[in-house]
Amino acid sequence: QQHLVWFRHDLRLRDNPALSAACIDNEAEVIALWCITPEQWQQHNVSARQLNYQYDALVVLQQDLKERRIPLLVIETATYQTLEKEFMQLCEKHKIDKVFYNYQYEVNERQRDQRIEALCHQQDIVCQGFNDSTLYPPGSVLTGQGKMYHVFTPFSRAVLKKLSTEEVECSTLPQKRSYPSSVKPSALPDFSTNEGKYDSKRFPAGHDAALSRLREFSKSRVEGYAEQRDLPAEDDTSRLSAALAIGLLSAKQCAKRVINDHPHVFEQAGGAATWLNELIWRDFYRHLLVAEPQLCRYKPFQTWTDHITWQNNKKHFSAWCEGNTGFPIVDAGMRQLNQTGWMHNRLRMVCASFLVKDLLIDWRWGEHYFSQQLIDGDLAANNGGWQWAASTGTDAAPYFRIFNPTRQSERFDPQGTFIHQWLPELEEVPEKNIHEPWLWADKQNKKLDYSRPIVEHRHAREVTLQAFEQARKHR
Ligand code: FAD
Repeated sequence: QQHLVWFRHDLRLRDNPALSAACIDNEAEVIALWCITPEQWQQHNVSARQLNYQYDALVVLQQDLKERRIPLLVIETATYQTLEKEFMQLCEKHKIDKVFYNYQYEVNERQRDQRIEALCHQQDIVCQGFNDSTLYPPGSVLTGQGKMYHVFTPFSRAVLKKLSTEEVECSTLPQKRSYPSSVKPSALPDFSTNEGKYDSKRFPAGHDAALSRLREFSKSRVEGYAEQRDLPAEDDTSRLSAALAIGLLSAKQCAKRVINDHPHVFEQAGGAATWLNELIWRDFYRHLLVAEPQLCRYKPFQTWTDHITWQNNKKHFSAWCEGNTGFPIVDAGMRQLNQTGWMHNRLRMVCASFLVKDLLIDWRWGEHYFSQQLIDGDLAANNGGWQWAASTGTDAAPYFRIFNPTRQSERFDPQGTFIHQWLPELEEVPEKNIHEPWLWADKQNKKLDYSRPIVEHRHAREVTLQAFEQARKHR
């Protein structure tokens, strides 16, 4: 028996259901596969940072697999379409009987799998897919009417009920194969780039490193998460999003770990419960993507919001991208994103809200930009986050509730510690004036090497409310 395990966003040996299943039969020869599809990645706006991170993770995975006598083969082709022929040729060459893979839930990926499954079927090759990237398979957490939840809280309640009554099962770690493989591994083409540099200390690219961060976070830091998680200067969230996005860790491993370490998580509010809830947000958006595939096609969930007349001012957009809006908290967040590929969740909300509600720029511009920069870019979470902030999604912030960036800044970065870290040009501005530096500078007759606010928040808010009101007439 020749078994092929097709790795995608599941770059790990532990709790990898496809790999475990492929390895059950001790006699089978197991071969791993990774596909490089640069044009497809470009169409999907995958950031250079995430690609570099993925490349580094593959180097580690290739070694882990080698130790288990599983060779890694690589196909390099333009798109999912051009992949089909090469995939079938590879199956033929290695006389593959069974293909194992973990599902991906985005539309193009699902279509790719359907086509490959059909081709395999014609050649009598059996394909087995597994749910891996969520706590529960999409479609398995439904309302009493058998529909996907459109509001997060009842969805979360339903997931918590399952988690508290059924043990989270993780797949077994495959053992070393009994025999050396007859297949020679491919040399891994280096698809990393110079533009995609990231801090490998903050984002170590291997399963073991991700797992030890999870353990450390769950043991020592999760308790304080409820109080600290909204304060960007504290930097006290798990920073596991990049590992979760490419599957160095599974959501189940995260949930299992925090439940084991904090057995009262279901009865007590606190850091562990709050963190578990964030993992459930991740599931919520993935389940939603399957229930509402139009979300993968840049469509808003609330169709009336497609009637909003956006201003789409290109100068404003560039100022936002570059972190030069004159609103320090927004600019600090955007510079953190540009320089590191990661942004604190509170700031993602503030920056997204600012683009849509203060600049009246189409949320899809922002979603696109985030995706090109983020090391943890993930269609479901990014789209969900943007549609939440833009009030175009399912469980979205009501459109009339508009963040005031200055109040957000005062509340979540009271001493301006985070702002000072990212905006050195505001060094001399005193703590209490940091949220509106120009008010202080003008009074002092000082010039700052910093942009003046590109809009006036109160006025921008009124314009946005009117644009939403107009669009709502199409409901
Ligand atoms: P923690 O606070 O430690 O949370 C643990 C894990 O839960 C995260 O690693 C993540 O996998 C998940 N999670 C937490 N919050 C959310 C959320 N609101 N939605 C979905 N999952 C969540 N997250 C991404 O992983 N990729 C994205 O592309 C992405 N884009 C976003 C865009 C916007 C506009 C917004 C508002 C949020 C976005 N998020 C995205 C969600 C969230 O900001 C990040 O997951 C979080 O900041 C990652 O940091 P962490 O790992 O320290 O999270």
